[in-house]
Amino acid sequence: QKTATQVLGALEVMAATIADAEAELGRIDAVAGDGDHGRGMVKGVNAAVEAARGVSGDGAGVETLLARAGEAWAAKAGGTSGVLWGQALKAFGASLGDTRESYTDGDTVEAVQAFLDTLTSLGKASLGDKTMVDALTPFVETLRSEVDRGASLAAAWASAAEVATKAADETAQLRPKVGRARPLAKKSVGTPDAGAISFAMCMTTVGEYLA
Ligand code: ADP
Ligand code: MG
Ligand code: MG
Repeated sequence: QKTATQVLGALEVMAATIADAEAELGRIDAVAGDGDHGRGMVKGVNAAVEAARGVSGDGAGVETLLARAGEAWAAKAGGTSGVLWGQALKAFGASLGDTRESYTDGDTVEAVQAFLDTLTSLGKASLGDKTMVDALTPFVETLRSEVDRGASLAAAWASAAEVATKAADETAQLRPKVGRARPLAKKSVGTPDAGAISFAMCMTTVGEYLA
């Protein structure tokens, strides 16, 4: 399964990027959170890669591969973001399904939309609450509009990742309304949201992988 192999490759580049960023993500999360975001992301994405490799060898399709990867991520990360990433990845895979031979760029847009929809329905964060939703929402919007106007998936993904990075940086101005950072809302102003930053890093590295 070509697409499943590509999804595994994307998880692998995310794992490498997150490994490099572990300390920085921990520092950001420590300003108004509990400081474990780097560690949690490393544990989650590594567990996801391991689980995906396990089923990839058996020729699993994207849905099965991301179901196993998402479950492993949620189980091993041990934090809010791990549960959200895990369930959202599962939804991404379910949107694509196991059996199709190939996917259009539009199918990928719908899968990313399913990732966002699941994450927001589980986490109940709105735009501006200072969470990863603040980077994810403009990512999906840009990806969709770039694909709609005829850009290649790789080019659309790169543009969307750039927009997500800027949006993640801009969460520095916001006060958190949900999650562990909420009681320390004032302290958090001036520092971006850890989950938004890690999300943007992941999308940037996947964009480079797709290019
Ligand atoms: P925890 O907060 O349990 O220690 P992490 O440190 O791994 O978990 O993740 C924190 C990140 O999770 C935050 O920076 C934020 O981006 C994201 N997050 C927290 N709560 C929510 C939520 N309700 N919806 C979306 N994202 C959230
Ligand atoms: Mg934390
Ligand atoms: Mg924690």
